[in-house]
Amino acid sequence: MPWVPLLLWTRTPAWRACADRMTDRSPIVFADLDDTLFQTMRKMSGPAHARRLAARAANGSHSYMTEAQAATVRWLLDSTRLIPTTARSSEVLAQATIRFTDYKICSNGGAIITPDGAHDRTWAARTAGISARHAPAFSALQDAVSALVQRDALRCWLVCEAQIPVYFVAKISVGTPRTVLDEAEWLCRARVGTDLVFHRNGRNLSFTPKGLAKSDAVKELLRRLPDTDRRPIWGMGDSISDLPFMRLCQMMVAPANSQITKTHLEI
Ligand SMILES: [Mg+2]
Repeated sequence: MPWVPLLLWTRTPAWRACADRMTDRSPIVFADLDDTLFQTMRKMSGPAHARRLAARAANGSHSYMTEAQAATVRWLLDSTRLIPTTARSSEVLAQATIRFTDYKICSNGGAIITPDGAHDRTWAARTAGISARHAPAFSALQDAVSALVQRDALRCWLVCEAQIPVYFVAKISVGTPRTVLDEAEWLCRARVGTDLVFHRNGRNLSFTPKGLAKSDAVKELLRRLPDTDRRPIWGMGDSISDLPFMRLCQMMVAPANSQITKTHLEI
């Protein structure tokens, strides 16, 4: 009697999620990744399990999910349109073990990857234009910290999408005094002023051209996706720089132990 299991299946959450997708009313979740859905082992209080490996890193500092984070990712993948919204380039995101199947926002908003895995051409052309206008600023930032780089006090690089520079990053190693990053921040700000959007979190600082933020890419997808006024839309992130895109959503979700909560909920 094949209709019996079918009848049972139609009453399950999986069926409801499937039905929602068919009517294109499934919830949309824009989610930052690092320190939101997973983190490096160094930041975990419990042991990291190989079966919850989230992303490999070239330097061996791989990222892992806690048991609860792994359950959250499964829940979101099963029941929503989960759109990673990350500072990782599309190349680095490809090293994640999580199988994202929807749009992906990469390089802090500099790239939109379509569900079939290609760079969105319209967005890529827009990014290339903004990047070209900021080529002198990118050079100035690299020059600003060159003395610190030469004495191995920090590393810096340009995050690129398809060879197009999107944003500038400087990072100190574990154990390096924060004063080194303070100095880098001062040197960089002196060179580019407020022409680029500055962000600092932990051992990193970054400068991103205006127009290439996560919020710009989220705004673009909200414009393209249907029925955004009739379905749940959540934004998840840990960092203050995530707040602008989270505010475009109906719900803002932040980890309890994050830069956002430490900054805004210190009691
Ligand atoms: Mg993060």
